[in-house]
Amino acid sequence: MFRRISILSFYFFNIRLPLNNRGETKLAAKLRIKMKNEERRMKKFSYLCKNMLTDKTLEKLRILAESAKYDVSCSSSGTVRSGRKGMVGNTVGGVGICHSFADDGRCISLLKVMLTNHCKYDCAYCINRRSNDIPRATLSVSELEEITMEFYRRNYIEGLFLSSGVVRNPDYTMERLTAIVRDLRTVHRFNGYIHLKSIPGASRELLAEAGRYADRMSVNIEIPREESLKLLAPEKDHQSVFQPMQLIQQGVLENKEDRKKFRHAPRFVPAGQSTQMIVGATKETDRDILFMSSSLYGQPTMRRVYYSGYVSVNTYDPRLPVLKQPPLVRENRLYQADWLMRFYQFKVDEIVDDAHANLDLDVDPKLGWALRHPEFFPVDINTAAYEHILRVPGIGVKSANLIVNSRRFGRVTSFHLKKMGVVMKKAKYFITCGELTDAYSQPIVGVNELHPERLRPLLVSKAQQKRAAAEQQLSLEFEEE
Ligand code: SF4
Repeated sequence: MFRRISILSFYFFNIRLPLNNRGETKLAAKLRIKMKNEERRMKKFSYLCKNMLTDKTLEKLRILAESAKYDVSCSSSGTVRSGRKGMVGNTVGGVGICHSFADDGRCISLLKVMLTNHCKYDCAYCINRRSNDIPRATLSVSELEEITMEFYRRNYIEGLFLSSGVVRNPDYTMERLTAIVRDLRTVHRFNGYIHLKSIPGASRELLAEAGRYADRMSVNIEIPREESLKLLAPEKDHQSVFQPMQLIQQGVLENKEDRKKFRHAPRFVPAGQSTQMIVGATKETDRDILFMSSSLYGQPTMRRVYYSGYVSVNTYDPRLPVLKQPPLVRENRLYQADWLMRFYQFKVDEIVDDAHANLDLDVDPKLGWALRHPEFFPVDINTAAYEHILRVPGIGVKSANLIVNSRRFGRVTSFHLKKMGVVMKKAKYFITCGELTDAYSQPIVGVNELHPERLRPLLVSKAQQKRAAAEQQLSLEFEEE
């Protein structure tokens, strides 16, 4: 398949991708390895389970864990649960739960499972939509509690990530999810981390109760523009997503006030909320996605927005684009842009605007911004403000802090910058620190003298160019309706 694409690309784009001895492109090989690792992970999971679960429950678990894996909004907790008398276990102090990731970026230290993958909705992008002919299963409330406790006691997991398809109505489903988290905390004395997906459209009372037992709750936005959401998920709208978000936020803020007055007031969703957006399933640009993220980060309880490259699970649906592989590079660029907003003091309109509605796949968003704004440089490392230093490509938050702290003791030179972990390959074109020279002891020419157009190819590795080219070739345009 990939050989055919490579040949086609030769004719249409005059590009030939290098193939390995299996006849695959680098990206196709990477995808194959990821799938193999996922298979291994599932095998290991089954091995761990087989001594304590009946075959029937194990089969249900396998189906439901498989169905849950497309939700990526679960990797971080940020909450602490220290060991308490009468409770079972704790979460790791300071940074919340320890978590590891499968190669495809999915979190695996939580038991990530759905209560049921039956769903009365028919969201086009979802593997569990009602029109799909896939194996279906439902765990009972007690089965799920038992599995969680057994895994937790054996140290297979450190917490639970629980979601569900919508059966009967949102309240019926949410009631069952709430019963599980309530029983885990009150009956089984489970003191691990719980991330609960809230069901859009569920009642305020159920959300309020669930929030008392869960560490984090999330509602997925999925698609940033309502008309696109309506097109792919006709039963959903933004109102049904933003309303529970508002309720959770209100609960968290009220709880904060209560805890100021009563130190031992029970906590409400202490790890805040998160959400997820699907990338590449609709025509939304990175600008639409990042503007939505930026407004969500303006809410005090929103901790993380996750971006999930659309995996073509329902290829038969004409409303969806034909993607040969998930847009992983784009997903990565969105995460980088997200970090710029959260930690590098960038405003969203500095990263994307009308003229640059999509992020550059060849260079990271910070470098892209620097190349568009050569007038901002060079930044003098020894005198510039912290927030200016943060904007230099190749300098991260840690190195920027080190630079600002070290210059109290003397001049910072390129030698020091290297020691601090600055990526000099990039940074050298954007800074001055006295004695920057190249391999032939010639002074480094900065971005302004060199001009951004000539600097860009020097900073983009050939591998990056090929990867971006491959991604562009492998995705076909949306068909006009
Ligand atoms: S409601 Fe959730 S589980 Fe059901 S089809 Fe939509 S995305 Fe899938």
